[in-house]
Amino acid sequence: MNNQQVSQTLQDIFKRLMAGYGPQYWWPAGEPFEVMVGAILTQQITWLNVEKAIANLKEAKALSPEALRRLELSEVARLIRPCGFYNAKALKLKSLARWLGEYYDDQLDKLSSSSAAELRQQLLSVYGIGQETADSIILYATGKPIFVIDAYTRRILNRIGLAPDGNGYAAYQALFMDNLTADAGLFNEYHALLVRLGKDVCRKKPLCLKCCLNGICQFYKANSYKPLAQAADGYKNTHRYG
Ligand code: SF4
Repeated sequence: MNNQQVSQTLQDIFKRLMAGYGPQYWWPAGEPFEVMVGAILTQQITWLNVEKAIANLKEAKALSPEALRRLELSEVARLIRPCGFYNAKALKLKSLARWLGEYYDDQLDKLSSSSAAELRQQLLSVYGIGQETADSIILYATGKPIFVIDAYTRRILNRIGLAPDGNGYAAYQALFMDNLTADAGLFNEYHALLVRLGKDVCRKKPLCLKCCLNGICQFYKANSYKPLAQAADGYKNTHRYG
């Protein structure tokens, strides 16, 4: 598949997802700092638990960089207990709050003055912030166009037949960013829709008959003659573009 075909396939996937699910209205949180906190708290946990932890932070008036720096680590951990790994995540939140104070004087609108690449480099130096979290913050808290890659996205692309050469985060991200217009609104909605599809039907044991992408999916084409759960068990990551 050449780059033009990859680009057309990615656009086709997006159109099918939009037709199937409609807009997802992400990020499911309010102010930019809440988005940042949510991006850390949601690591390895469902959003429902994150909502409880954020509600606790709000009730304790601790949902600000200044408050998170001031509070004891143990108190932050207590407030975010519903979201699991709370000791580690408390440390991450305090590190994020310290970074915002040191680099941006707690003024989140100043983040817009840095490029996405600069922000990414800075965020990746903050304790506990990896590529997916950094990119979620850049896209959903600052509105800069960067594509977020997660486990759902990798699984869906692999099954559809668009897995890039190399299995790294950067390769998957480049697939989108090199072949789509750099548009924060598009990247926002596209990522949200992939998460929706991954949770809804493209699960570990996929429900392909219900999937709006089955008409263009190599996994489905290759396995539609046998039970899909069985096919998923035996499926190897062999479908690549190029
Ligand atoms: S058709 Fe099946 S394997 Fe392909 S994207 Fe849909 S759920 Fe996933």
